[in-house]
Amino acid sequence: MLSALAPEFAAELAALLAARGEPILARSITTLPVVELCRCSDPRCASFYTVPRFAANWRWPQGGRLELDASAGTIRVDTAGGLIVSVEVLDRPQLATALQARDGIEFGLAGDDRLHRKD
Ligand SMILES: [Zn+2]
Repeated sequence: MLSALAPEFAAELAALLAARGEPILARSITTLPVVELCRCSDPRCASFYTVPRFAANWRWPQGGRLELDASAGTIRVDTAGGLIVSVEVLDRPQLATALQARDGIEFGLAGDDRLHRKD
């Protein structure tokens, strides 16, 4: 879970969502899983999926995106059906290191950079 892998980032993310008027999403952070890391080649990237990517891509195509006012770097949350499905994070090297140190992350296909699609 994110709160175990990167507790400071998880706390910041929850606070940002609460400040944004999303208390339900904010509360979900305490149990938010890290299912799969983004496998783009951008060294600034620390993005991750919180549901299996096939579900993020195909089950809920009409999700929303929240851009949060991060203290550093960039944080965007993709939601669908009232759930967080992925978190795009750029320029947060501590988080990237924490996530990549985790064993058992299921890596997706390199080059699939859906998290950075152009809107
Ligand atoms: Zn990425």
